[in-house]
Amino acid sequence: MNYQSMGSESLTQVRDELADAYQQLLAAGLSLDITRGKPSPEQLDLSNDLLSLPGEHYLDSRGTDTRNYGGDLGLPDLRAIFAEIVNVATDNIIAAGNASLELMHDATIFSLLHGTPDSLDPWAHQGTIKFLCPAPGYDRHFALTESLGIEMITVPMLPNGPDVDACAELVASDPAIKGMWAVPTYSNPTGVTFDLDVTTRLMSMPAAAPDFRIYWDNAYVVHTLVDEAPTPHPVLEIAAKAGHPNRPYVFASTSKITFAGAGVSFFASSTENIDWYRRHSSVKWIGPDKVNHLRHVQFFGDAEGVRAHMARHRELLAPKFRLVNEIFTDRLADSKVASWTDPEGGYFVSLDVIDGTAKRVVELAKQAGIALTAAGSTFPYLRDPYDRNIRIAPTMPSIDELRVAIDGVATCVLLAAADKLLA
Ligand code: PLP
Repeated sequence: MNYQSMGSESLTQVRDELADAYQQLLAAGLSLDITRGKPSPEQLDLSNDLLSLPGEHYLDSRGTDTRNYGGDLGLPDLRAIFAEIVNVATDNIIAAGNASLELMHDATIFSLLHGTPDSLDPWAHQGTIKFLCPAPGYDRHFALTESLGIEMITVPMLPNGPDVDACAELVASDPAIKGMWAVPTYSNPTGVTFDLDVTTRLMSMPAAAPDFRIYWDNAYVVHTLVDEAPTPHPVLEIAAKAGHPNRPYVFASTSKITFAGAGVSFFASSTENIDWYRRHSSVKWIGPDKVNHLRHVQFFGDAEGVRAHMARHRELLAPKFRLVNEIFTDRLADSKVASWTDPEGGYFVSLDVIDGTAKRVVELAKQAGIALTAAGSTFPYLRDPYDRNIRIAPTMPSIDELRVAIDGVATCVLLAAADKLLA
């Protein structure tokens, strides 16, 4: 039944039934959490062989003793595997610590304090600094820029990537715009994969700031829920051809491939940017954890090994995403008060409820013991201009918990919608 076209009498009746269903939900005393995109214990188990690697075999294929200091670029064998995964040359990629977010933070801090190779001055000496933020987007990206005092400008996320026309117009005219967040494959939370035209235009659009950077966070590059992940665009090549070789910073990690807390992160960029990163990071460490790099090399073997491993993740994840879509379709489709994504990869389902009800849905769910990511989190400054978007993270709970949680969320969505339409 379409709530939007229902008479108020029928809708009031529906609302009363939903209120009863919600009381039952409250009485169930649930304690469920679908807030963060964490791998489930079963997914982590897929990588347990890492726990006994590298054993006594701590020399890499070149005879380097991985236990010692040094090797700031990371282990060459691991760089080669992930160069293939993110589609860059091995010379242009660094294997680093356990979190790509740290690399993004480093790149921003180094730019603020020292400037980039293309900056006239450190960003911190140039007044207000701004970043473009396609939204809905990743809350930790926004938290990072906000914490460093960088002004965030929201740009719409469209089905094939960020709204490039809007980006191009802003970047061309405002030299304070120094950066842009981008998650090109199975974006968080929309699941959008940028098409080649969007990528090419982002890399070629004229920018008023000579040191404009795009943080190309390919966190979900191999995280497919279908037969094959899309081939990542050769973004360094595209940018170089367009005359902006230093524009893209490519990030990736094995956080959701092996162990979320003990994986390996990667940074790929032009030679000039890699040299810049090395120079500034050399004062903060004497090289990464090469033992961890080596155990990852031994575990994967090659890029095909990474993809085969991701197929095992897919077996665990695809049924969860299918379940979310089935329950939402069953409970919400007819009412026309919500839409949601059925992604081909990544870690999230993006749920849009009727405008002005996302906060209420999250609150109703919370009272019923179902923790959802705070409404607004997917927008800069936690401000969803429409109070519409809710990020659902189905990976961590068991199938049975997920079923109960999503069904409960559907009840909250419907109740909030009925109340709103009757108000
Ligand atoms: N980038 C995106 C888009 C993410 O969704 C996440 C985690 O949710 C991360 C980065 C975190 O990556 P890492 O664990 O390598 O810091």
